[in-house]
Amino acid sequence: MEPAHDPLALVIDLRAELEGLHHLVTSEPATAGRLAADLQHRAESAGQRETVAGALLCRAEACQRTGELAAAVALINRACDPTAPLSGENQVRASLLKSFVYNDLADESTALHHTMDAVTAFTDEVPRALRVRVLNKAADLLHDLGAADDALLWYSRAEALAVGDAQMHLLVANNRAYTALEDGLVDAALAGARQLAALSARYGQPLNAASLDTVARIHLLAGDPALAADLARQAVRATEHVDFRTADGLPYYLLTLAVAERALGRLEAASATLEQARRACTEQGYARVKNEILREEAEVRAALGDHRAAYEMLKAFCVADRELLSRQREAQARIRQTLFETVTARQEAARYREEARRDPLTGLRNRLYVQERLGELLAGGLPQPGGCLSIALLDLDHFKSVNDRYSHEAGDRVLQAVARLLEAATPAGETGSFAARFGGEELLLVLVTDDRGQAHDIVEDVRRTVQEHDWSTLTPGRGITLSAGLVARLPGDTYDSLLARADQRLYAAKSGGRNRVCFG
Ligand code: GH3
Ligand code: MG
Ligand code: MG
Repeated sequence: MEPAHDPLALVIDLRAELEGLHHLVTSEPATAGRLAADLQHRAESAGQRETVAGALLCRAEACQRTGELAAAVALINRACDPTAPLSGENQVRASLLKSFVYNDLADESTALHHTMDAVTAFTDEVPRALRVRVLNKAADLLHDLGAADDALLWYSRAEALAVGDAQMHLLVANNRAYTALEDGLVDAALAGARQLAALSARYGQPLNAASLDTVARIHLLAGDPALAADLARQAVRATEHVDFRTADGLPYYLLTLAVAERALGRLEAASATLEQARRACTEQGYARVKNEILREEAEVRAALGDHRAAYEMLKAFCVADRELLSRQREAQARIRQTLFETVTARQEAARYREEARRDPLTGLRNRLYVQERLGELLAGGLPQPGGCLSIALLDLDHFKSVNDRYSHEAGDRVLQAVARLLEAATPAGETGSFAARFGGEELLLVLVTDDRGQAHDIVEDVRRTVQEHDWSTLTPGRGITLSAGLVARLPGDTYDSLLARADQRLYAAKSGGRNRVCFG
């Protein structure tokens, strides 16, 4: 058989391709995003729902990494089809991505909430590198939210899981060192820088641009601008070969270099580097770094003695910062709305799901529900251990003549009334018992009882109640009765075998004179 026509081989191929794209998206988001769109279409044609969702999430990450947050949110929402739950891995990816988006919107607490959702969705099948990213993100956010001790605990967890994986281990070490830097903890930051160097040597893997920038900034903090400038230049050069790309990587590294140059008194060089940083800001690149560039330019101007220009720049910085803040708020509100709509959609989907499993005329469960639920019960999911599972197929006697004599509408009302009597006779929900309309004037009782005798009593009760009901307003001059075939589940019974036996019993009840329960 040609491999391309072997459906199993195709499934495996698509999954392997997706795995590759999940890896590529952190370093080459634009390329990975395009390839994921193509993969998504092929997975759709192959009916590979889970791979489609994975491809959508890969595209979402590509958008998030290139700063297109609204597009990222739309893709996450498409992947999270509320009618079909995602696999563990896709759930983790979706939650982690939401966390990235909220983080980009400077809403760290919501971001942390989603990160914890991702942790909750962990299973052994979720790739280790992905779990490391989640734990690492939790640590980053805890730090940003001011819980430094908790952050260290989560970095340790992430690190313990990352040992042996050079890329992930370096990522965790980099982020922990960066938090020490942000907190101005010189000793801890320098220890972090040393650990990065040691890990790089141990794994034989050069530091990536982000780590070089971290170490550069640590040396700035520690008062060594010459070393910092050298490392920042290395970071700028390494930007072409990053393994985790963000929209604003390069301008940040150039900013580090400019600060180092200013500290070294090379003000003209700093000015030129800042100009380069501004050009490196992509169109959709985050405004945050642009503002920081502006502020640093003001510092350089002031150091050059050009206080007028410095003042103008600071003023521009303040205006830009205010604008940034209001834009962030707006974006937050918009994306919150989108995420809120997802929750509503999920609730609606649950309602549609429920509606699709009810019979509109009687409000009883319908055949679709019976198929699903009885299938589950037969598969061993009885709510009470040692319980007895029985089904009774009930059919109204000579019902055609009710329609003929009193109208179809009257017949409908009889069906509704019988449905109410049936519901009243069915043991309460948590036992697992339920009543359904199986089709036409055929009804079904699924009973979970202590023993078979109890089931028989219930069905016999239904038969008698229907017979004794006052039908004089609906069908004056004529009573309503029903016949039933009751069977208990036998070892090895399937949905079909159980129903077939119930149908035989019902036939026996009919041919035995109707208005009776045949049990077997
Ligand atoms: P038996 O005792 O052998 O079951 O006789 P019967 O007349 O009930 O059996 P039969 O299967 O010949 O007819 C079933 C009738 O049920 C025919 C159909 O018009 C009626 N029926 C099925 N669904 C509905 C419904 O939704 N509303 C009404 N009013 N009648 C229905
Ligand atoms: Mg019938
Ligand atoms: Mg009938």
